[in-house]
Amino acid sequence: MKLHIENLSQTYPNGVQALKNVSLEIETGMFGLLGPNGAGKSTLMRILATLQMPDSGSITFGEHNVLIDKTEIRQLLGYLPQEFGVYPKIKAISLLDHLAVLKGIGNSSERKNRVEQVLVQTNLWKHRNKRLGGYSGGMRQRFGIAQALLADPKLIIVDEPTAGLDPAERNRFHNMLSELGNNAVVILSTHIVDDVTKLCPDMAIIHEGVIQMTGSPQEAIEALEGNVWQRVIPKQELDKFKQQYQVIGEHLIAGQTQIMILSDFDPGNEFKPKPADLEDVYFSYISHTQQPVLV
Ligand code: ADP
Repeated sequence: MKLHIENLSQTYPNGVQALKNVSLEIETGMFGLLGPNGAGKSTLMRILATLQMPDSGSITFGEHNVLIDKTEIRQLLGYLPQEFGVYPKIKAISLLDHLAVLKGIGNSSERKNRVEQVLVQTNLWKHRNKRLGGYSGGMRQRFGIAQALLADPKLIIVDEPTAGLDPAERNRFHNMLSELGNNAVVILSTHIVDDVTKLCPDMAIIHEGVIQMTGSPQEAIEALEGNVWQRVIPKQELDKFKQQYQVIGEHLIAGQTQIMILSDFDPGNEFKPKPADLEDVYFSYISHTQQPVLV
C-alpha cells in the first residue's frame, strides 16, 4: 500500500509553523525522514498516527483517507513514539495482553498467540515475565516495537528510535526494522544520518517544516560527487572560511579543525576532493536554506 501526503500544513497556537505544504509519496519499504531537532518530524509523525489534525492538506493510505477513516487507520498502524512510557511494575507479557485488548483483539486464544508471537519476534520471550522497570534501554525499545506489531500493522511509524541504545542494541533494532519493511510502509524519523544510510532505500530531508529533498540516498550522494572538498584550517579562521566558501561541515580531528565545503570547481587553497556521503548531502540542504531539489 502506498502512503500519499499532499500539501500538509500545521501551525501551532503559539504561531510556530511546524509544517509548510509537505507532500510525500511513500511506498512499501523503509523510508527515512531526516531532519534536525525542531524540523517538524514529530508533528508529521503524530498527524500520520492520527493523534493530531493538520490545518490543511490530505493523506491517503491505500484506499483510506487517513484524516477521516481514523478507526480503520489505527487498525493498520503501528506507532512507536519517541518515549514509550512504560509501567515499571507490570510484567511485559501482561501489558502486551492488555494493549492487545485495546487494539481490538478480543478473542483470548488469538490474543495469547499474537502476544507470544511478538515477544518471540522482538527477542523478548525469555524476558516476558520481567517487570518493565527492570528492562534495559534496548529492551524497552524492543518492547515498543512489540506493542507496535500487535495488530500486524501495514503502516509503521518510528520516531527517533535509537537514542540511548548501545551499538549492539542499535544493530538488533535496525535488523528488526529492516525486516518489517518487507511488507509494510515503515517510516523512520530521525536526525541520525547513519541510521538512514544503513536502512533506507528512500528518504526525505525536512528542515524548518519544508521538505528540502526527496529521493534515494544513493542518488543524492552521486549527485554531490565531485563537489565536496575538505581541508584543515586554523580554528580561529573558521568565520573567514565561512564567508568565503559554502561550508557544509566541520569536524575536530586530533584537535585540528577540518572543514567540508561545496564547490563545483576546484577551489584551490589547499582544499582536497572528498568522496561525498549522506552527511554531506544532509548538511548541504540544512546548512543554508535553498530551493527544494528533487533527485
Ligand atoms: P522535530 O520532531 O523535528 O524535532 P517537532 O515537530 O517536534 O520537530 O517541532 C517542530 C516545531 O514545532 C518546533 O519549533 C517545536 O518547538 C514546535 N512545536 C512542536 N509541538 C508543539 C506544540 N504542541 N505547541 C507549540 N509548538 C510546538
